[in-house]
Amino acid sequence: MRHAAHVSCACVVGAGVTGAAVARELALRGWEVTLAEQYAPGTVRSASGGDTRLLRTGHGDAEWYAASAHRARTLWLELQETTGTRIWEGVGLAWLAQRANGFEAASRPVLERLGIPHEWLTPDDARDLFPSLAVDDLDAVLYEPQAGILHARRATQLLVEDGERAGVRRSAGRVIPLDDPAGDVVVWACGAWLPLLFPEQVAVEVSRRDVFFLGGDHSWSGAPGFVDYDGGFYGHGDIEGLGVKIAPDAPSDIVDPDRLDRVPSPYWEGIARNYAARRFPALASAPVVGARVCQYDLSADTHFIADRHPENDRWWLIGGGSGHSFKHGPALAEYVADCIEGARERETFHALGERTGRAGLRTGER
Ligand SMILES: Cc1cc2nc3c(=O)[nH]c(=O)nc-3n(C[C@H](O)[C@H](O)[C@H](O)COP(=O)(O)OP(=O)(O)OC[C@H]3O[C@@H](n4cnc5c(N)ncnc54)[C@H](O)[C@@H]3O)c2cc1C
Repeated sequence: MRHAAHVSCACVVGAGVTGAAVARELALRGWEVTLAEQYAPGTVRSASGGDTRLLRTGHGDAEWYAASAHRARTLWLELQETTGTRIWEGVGLAWLAQRANGFEAASRPVLERLGIPHEWLTPDDARDLFPSLAVDDLDAVLYEPQAGILHARRATQLLVEDGERAGVRRSAGRVIPLDDPAGDVVVWACGAWLPLLFPEQVAVEVSRRDVFFLGGDHSWSGAPGFVDYDGGFYGHGDIEGLGVKIAPDAPSDIVDPDRLDRVPSPYWEGIARNYAARRFPALASAPVVGARVCQYDLSADTHFIADRHPENDRWWLIGGGSGHSFKHGPALAEYVADCIEGARERETFHALGERTGRAGLRTGER
């Protein structure tokens, strides 16, 4: 067991992927950890409670995120291996590039520098990746053979269980700043609830997203993930019979994560169906076999938040997942634990407060 530097007792608030991973990481480093959750780990009200989440390493020129996703992949696979619980589908991922000089092209040199396998395919060559794929509007396809899909809710719960094996104690109920929880360090990893708890410090917009699963035939089983960055859609082939995921990623309603009725909207269903019919013609008449409604906690520039509270230096605020933080879970936890222990400097792009600029780290920013 590794040892904590100076402090030994932490309270982590929120058992989404971020809080669960940080609690486990600190416990593995020898800390005494309590993990508090207001609903249940992996609740479908949390962003981490979805069925599946993509893990891709391409992040344009944002190397910190590419390296983090790459590291996280290793850690997720180790967790799967040591627990014997399937959380990973290594199906690869195709970036459907509409421009020669877009996000995908900017990702290439970073992947090369980091030694992450990738292929730059002609649209015609990329047809073979899916049972059906329209390529008329594509310039190229960036294929990441080692990318894949995480079973998100299951993986979140597995982090909690594995954390408990490392000594994490669980606590049920909502914790608020006025409670001033005990601990040398308090980590607030509250996802979409973070701006409600810290309105002065956390500039994050909580915005609805509807995700659909279409019933394709057997040939969609094992098809890769895809990201249509400029088009604002992403998804994956059929996994464990869930159906083919089609997720529109465009601005949507501001919501309250406690009060949101999670009933899929016919408007977004129409958008998803139209996209599927155009991009994957074989799905044109496929039925909707599942849907989820969840929320993003969007920072203005899509960079995460990982910083110390300006007035209480025992408190760390971690969030702003901005629709792309799931994959990073265990690697982000290493980074946060290093920052807490003083072994690593906090990156300025994770700072609290207002943000300017659009980094576009996720589909749908354009
Ligand atoms: C539809 C959708 C698709 C996405 N797709 C991807 C993807 O493909 N790849 C990817 O990497 N990421 C993706 N994301 C983003 C990713 O899922 C989130 O960024 C990530 O799950 C956020 O995790 P979190 O732990 O920070 O927050 P959450 O998962 O929201 O967890 C926060 C937890 O804290 C608890 N909590 C909050 N306040 C309190 C309190 N006061 N007391 C006690 N408990 C509290 C909540 O109940 C909740 O369980 C997607 C998100 C959505 C919504």
